[in-house]
Amino acid sequence: MATFDQELGRRLTAIREQGLYRELRCVDSAQGPRIEVAGRTLVNFSSNDYLGLANHPALKEAAIRAVEQYGAGSGSARLICGSLAPHHELEESLAAFKGTEAALSFSSGYATALGTITALLGKEDIIIVDKLVHACVVDAARLSGAKLRVFAHNDLDDLEQILKWANRRDELHESQIKGEKSGTRVTRPPGKKSRILVVTESIFSMDGDAAPLVEIVALKKKYGAWLMVDEAHATGLYGAKRRGLVEELGVAGQIEIQMGTLGKALGASGGYICGSRNLIDFLINRARSFIFSTAPVPAAAAAARAGIHIMQSSEGEKRRQTLWERVRQCRTGVAPVSDIFRNGDRRDACPTLSAIFPLIVGDESKAVALATQLRLEGFFVPAIRYPTVARGRARLRVTLTAAHSSDDVVRLTSALLQIVNRKS
Ligand SMILES: *Cc1c(COP(=O)(O)O)cnc(C)c1O
Repeated sequence: MATFDQELGRRLTAIREQGLYRELRCVDSAQGPRIEVAGRTLVNFSSNDYLGLANHPALKEAAIRAVEQYGAGSGSARLICGSLAPHHELEESLAAFKGTEAALSFSSGYATALGTITALLGKEDIIIVDKLVHACVVDAARLSGAKLRVFAHNDLDDLEQILKWANRRDELHESQIKGEKSGTRVTRPPGKKSRILVVTESIFSMDGDAAPLVEIVALKKKYGAWLMVDEAHATGLYGAKRRGLVEELGVAGQIEIQMGTLGKALGASGGYICGSRNLIDFLINRARSFIFSTAPVPAAAAAARAGIHIMQSSEGEKRRQTLWERVRQCRTGVAPVSDIFRNGDRRDACPTLSAIFPLIVGDESKAVALATQLRLEGFFVPAIRYPTVARGRARLRVTLTAAHSSDDVVRLTSALLQIVNRKS
């Protein structure tokens, strides 16, 4: 026991020395634009509650009603006896909201990616992911055993090169089977082509920029690949029906697997896949994170469903408009230092606004010092470091929500400008 703790102590010291040590900060209030931390009220610019629904009366009411009717726990996995009505209602709402044949909910976004990708791919297959996809996609890819290839962030040429390679690899394999080439090991049963899955996010979680989805869809068609798009940071914010960026760009019907989370703009918790009836039935049968895990509590499902309801209402549209107003205001506020602040539409590839403003600092310890400085001034902004982003790419990640006031944003941008000017 003593040597075990000593060993971990040494590892923790190493983490500290690299400026990568993390600790939990207890929040003594509900989520919202203001949170209580260590006895102080801070303006919260760190949450993904983009529409301010996490503490919305309608979501709380739905959760309370679900507890009263269905209890606190869910009893078992969905396939045993935990498939409570609130889960089915949530999935009907999700499919209707997204305009897909069917939907399946998971206990988290992480579990969604893990279950879905490992169900769809095996070791004879190929998975191609954007360099900046969320850790859950990378972990799922590794667990699936498929060959993992990474394309440079939003780089269509790089993606196409890899797709070409994947197709060549398959053709080579076919010819090996036909005996046109000999002496190489046959790894797949004859005639079984390897599946190629491309995975990207629509709005990237730590950079706030958008993927060129129209072009990616064209490429996946050209090379016969499947496409999975994670809309964690886009659901509720883009498109006429607020379904996400795939709606706004008109490609929803061409994406095999639409993923998202229930814990960001939807204000609750969990993850989902939307797609064809066959996809959903297949996942129910094969997604291990779904099969072997207790169903989410009924309150979570009911709250998420209420979130979808609000999102589709005129109140949802009003909240979205408020969010974009704050985003524009923040962009104007940080314009004098826009070379340091990044926000989606500065990049030519895909001119899209997002609610995520990363201030790239680089050095890990410096990013932590800036976050501490901001906290002293009354703002809660997280320093994002490795392994969430690459080493040497540490940043402050500012996220705006519809619940922030115009004054909150003005005060934040002036504090940020001061910090940036002091820094340089
Ligand atoms: C948050 C997030 C997830 C994970 O969702 P959880 O519900 O928090 O597990 C997956 N993908 C992306 C892009 C995310 O930002």
